Amino acid sequence: MTSWRHDSLGASSSEPLPVVIIGNGPSGICLSYLLSGHIPYVKPGAVHPHPLLQRKLAEAPGVSILDQDLEYLSEGLEGRSQSPVALLFDALLRPDTDFGGSIDSVLSWKRQKDRAVPHLVLGRNLPGGAWHSIEGSMVTLSQGQWMSLPDLQVKDWMRKKCRSPQQQSHSR
Ligand SMILES: Cc1cc2nc3c(=O)[nH]c(=O)nc-3n(C[C@H](O)[C@H](O)[C@H](O)COP(=O)(O)OP(=O)(O)OC[C@H]3O[C@@H](n4cnc5c(N)ncnc54)[C@H](O)[C@@H]3O)c2cc1C
Repeated sequence: MTSWRHDSLGASSSEPLPVVIIGNGPSGICLSYLLSGHIPYVKPGAVHPHPLLQRKLAEAPGVSILDQDLEYLSEGLEGRSQSPVALLFDALLRPDTDFGGSIDSVLSWKRQKDRAVPHLVLGRNLPGGAWHSIEGSMVTLSQGQWMSLPDLQVKDWMRKKCRSPQQQSHSR
């Protein structure tokens, strides 16, 4: 796709965009975050409770998750998704959720502008996708405290917006 755009430095360009993301829901937002050069690393000193995954993570200290063998890392992980990469990111972001635990994410995110990929996110409405149409009265299965985007807990975002979680969130 070719379009006039402004890059992150404010310069305009008519170069073709290498990536166009269709849809501005949580999936599109997360992909855009990654393509903007936010790169996930294992936090220094973090220990994952899954022994096999921890052993594999320890084999490449300081190497970003994106630069590791995702198939190897996700081997043996189980969960509610069919996608090995989704299982891996669930395990890294919510290490022991399926066992009722509340261990913090083992990931930290670093902004590496040189790794950013120019992209455009297309959406029909405001960013947020299905969440705009979910009624405030909806009760969902998972816990509200799990709600997050990469590096942004919904509860922290709400605190910044000075809103009450009871008024604004859909507890999962
Ligand atoms: C009632 C309900 C409760 C839920 N509860 C939870 C929950 O508690 N926790 C949870 O994690 N998930 C929950 N979900 C699942 C939720 O849908 C996902 O978490 C999340 O919204 C999926 O994000 P997404 O970006 O993949 O899709 P969506 O949120 O559906 O976003 C896709 C966006 O892309 C837009 N789009 C699609 N095609 C085009 C196009 N051709 N051009 C432009 N725009 C386009 C759509 O209009 C939409 O805005 C719930 C879903 C529902 C319906």
